[in-house]
Amino acid sequence: MAAKKPTEQPWKVVQPIKKPRATQQPQPPKPTESERVTVRVTKGPADYSPMAIRNAINQKLKSTIVAKVATSQKDNFVITLLSNHTAAEFIEKRPLWQSAFEAYGIQGVEEPSTWSKLIAHGVPTRDFDLGLFKAEVETFNPDVRVKGSPRWLNQPCPEKRAGSVVFSVATEAEKRTCIQKGLIVAGITVKVEAAKAFTASTQCFRCQGYGHNPQTCKNRVKCRLCAGNHPTRHHKCPTCGASETCSHLQPRCSNCTGPHPANHTDCEVYRAIKARRPTTSRTVGPTAGPTAGPTAGPTVGPTVGPTVNPFQEEDTEMEAGPPGPKKLRPDGSPW
Ligand SMILES: [Zn+2]
Ligand SMILES: [Zn+2]
Ligand SMILES: [Zn+2]
Ligand SMILES: [Zn+2]
Repeated sequence: MAAKKPTEQPWKVVQPIKKPRATQQPQPPKPTESERVTVRVTKGPADYSPMAIRNAINQKLKSTIVAKVATSQKDNFVITLLSNHTAAEFIEKRPLWQSAFEAYGIQGVEEPSTWSKLIAHGVPTRDFDLGLFKAEVETFNPDVRVKGSPRWLNQPCPEKRAGSVVFSVATEAEKRTCIQKGLIVAGITVKVEAAKAFTASTQCFRCQGYGHNPQTCKNRVKCRLCAGNHPTRHHKCPTCGASETCSHLQPRCSNCTGPHPANHTDCEVYRAIKARRPTTSRTVGPTAGPTAGPTAGPTVGPTVGPTVNPFQEEDTEMEAGPPGPKKLRPDGSPW
């Protein structure tokens, strides 16, 4: 924003009377809020040494960037950076430091929860690489700085010419600019909207149900693999101790009781939800309780399930909102 020309001001700016304590010196550059990054892991860091991890990362980066290592309520790592380093920078350097989390199994790296997530629609997929997104946006939209790592909302299929990109900005002002004016990307203006926390087909990582905000989910926790009453990340094969799919796994879906993981594309509950789209109705959701519904036949196939909503697994402290609009589910099923 250009500064107002002082000559155009017909009035005199009266300086507020300084309180005795205030000094005349120019304020030292305010240390910006330390940025944080969440490292999502499959194995909860039950006992770990914050200092050992911090030192390992800094060593791998050959520079002191990490100030603090802690864990979140959801058993992920929260990395606090020294104030002169940005989360974006840290995320970009992931290949260098990720081995520090080898023992915990990195699932994802998340930017700070205070950033606004946006979706740019109609981003060309031909002659355009996601790796160019940040540079392209920042060159042609000087008011906007892309944070974190932009990603496709859904991996664009080859025959599609355009896709939607999920990205973040740090400030409300940038968010407004993007939504109001769109973004110039790859020579065109694309439409931008605020990313919703969930859609009808968002699968909750806690209860495996659909259509609600996983951040506020109060349903009983269900394992995605075996439908057990434990978080998926705590799944453990009784035979080999594997925490993921293994040859002994007898998958069970907590939505339809079928012999598949809860995120299987062949799940009838998932298919029913997909078939009902597009919809604006809030009643969409799995109506089949854990005991309802016939058992689907044995399904073999890809376990590429419902679109994993890019927002569902964050360790956000924000957006927790009021404890769930429970009344919105006329079918009586819990949120
Ligand atoms: Zn849920
Ligand atoms: Zn399990
Ligand atoms: Zn096993
Ligand atoms: Zn199912």
